[in-house]
Amino acid sequence: MSEPYILVLDEGTTSTRAMLYASQGTRIATAQAELTQYYPQPGWVEHDAAEIWERTLKCARQMVERAGGASRIAAIGITNQRETIVAWDRKTGEPLARAIVWQDRRTADRCADLREAGLEPMLQEATGLVIDPYFSATKIRWMIDHVPAVGDAGAGLALGTVESWLVWKLTGGCHVSDASNASRTQLVRLDGDSWDQGLCDLFGVPRAALPEIVDNAGSFGSTLPDLFGGPISICGLAGDQQAAMIGQSCLHPGEAKATLGTGAFILANMGPVIPVSRHRLLGTLLYRIGDRRAYALEGSLFAAGSLIQWLRDGLGLIVQAADSEALARSVPGNGGVFMLPALAGLGAPHWRPDATGVIAGLTQGSTRAHVVRAALESISHQVHDLAGAFASDGAPWDRLRIDGGMSANDWIAQDMADMLDIPVERPADVETTALGAAMLAAVGAGLFASLHEASAMRPPGAQFMPAMPRETRQYRLGGWQAMLRHMTPAS
Ligand code: ADP
Repeated sequence: MSEPYILVLDEGTTSTRAMLYASQGTRIATAQAELTQYYPQPGWVEHDAAEIWERTLKCARQMVERAGGASRIAAIGITNQRETIVAWDRKTGEPLARAIVWQDRRTADRCADLREAGLEPMLQEATGLVIDPYFSATKIRWMIDHVPAVGDAGAGLALGTVESWLVWKLTGGCHVSDASNASRTQLVRLDGDSWDQGLCDLFGVPRAALPEIVDNAGSFGSTLPDLFGGPISICGLAGDQQAAMIGQSCLHPGEAKATLGTGAFILANMGPVIPVSRHRLLGTLLYRIGDRRAYALEGSLFAAGSLIQWLRDGLGLIVQAADSEALARSVPGNGGVFMLPALAGLGAPHWRPDATGVIAGLTQGSTRAHVVRAALESISHQVHDLAGAFASDGAPWDRLRIDGGMSANDWIAQDMADMLDIPVERPADVETTALGAAMLAAVGAGLFASLHEASAMRPPGAQFMPAMPRETRQYRLGGWQAMLRHMTPAS
């Protein structure tokens, strides 16, 4: 019999995808469907969980057909947008409210109250997370307080992040969440295995409505036979950034990856040591498999690909994102032009949500190429600052693996290697999130004995070596420091 396949369900924010992998790691086929975004008020973002399920099922069915039937698939791996919270009815399996998406800021006031009450140091130490509407706990309480169907559901209430919701629907009632997704709710201690009663009480979350927390690889139930013409085991689950770390094979302490999408998510493996940040980086569980646990430090940039979109849509300097590469190459340097890319504030390690952007150093000789180049350079500058924060939190990088839509830009990859002064690596297939879920599923199904063995599934890639003269680097960093001084004082 030929090699079995692995089916990955990759639940993004804007789309849901199903992908078929050969068990040695080649991605064979992909089906994708867009997800409707609901913005009922400024700062609110919702999804229809029923739509997520229906579209996921449709895409998954296409892949099962492509594989030649359910019996050809050894395992399902699921990876998902983290923190987004779904509430459903245990009896009917139907959603009780729109899912509140990770980007949603509706609980900002509640978070400000918690911060004012002085709870942040305790919460950060316990959960690795700062107080922010981003994380699930305050979203859950909001649903209970404001959606009668959720508040009145009592023992019939089931809560979960998106992978939990999908496992319930796929299996017909298995209520689990994996340890990496659970670690983003702020309801689990970094050293804990289950929901923390004290944290549930603090946020007002009924523990009985929460799923059982399971490993990232294992046997989490079988799909209802009717769905795909036969049962398929669910063997891998992980939040998207943790899955990308695994797909990039960042399995040893110190190994780091940057996913350069609309924003950028940068994580470093901390091994079994619980991370403690003095720079407001987040501590998070990377994976839990049996008695093996690994943690990660995480930092994010608000502006990465969004900056390129702004060059295109806001300024009209480029027609498509890829044009930025040729323009940056068309000039020998930035011509003295520097950019502070604070279009939506500045993320880690500066944490200035109120900051606004600056373009400085313009002269009569400045062209659009200089402005585009300054924008691209500013991405490396931000990553450089994050590298410093990771190093002082005990996670210096000796190389950086990149993925995400923006990593296609060779100029950015080289500039990052130059500014960080370390090699930058990019795999041939940048769908590392889905690959990570496939690796977890392969381990859970027993096709590989460990994630280290499963990393044979990772494709080879390109390597960008640092080559910038020291003086140029010093000039760039000096210009960037001056940009940071241009920032208006914190209000
Ligand atoms: P997300 O997962 O956040 O939707 P993707 O990983 O699909 O994002 O990446 C899309 C982003 O990458 C867009 O913001 C786009 O502007 C940027 N991008 C895509 N190709 C390039 C390129 N060649 N150079 C620079 N930026 C790019």
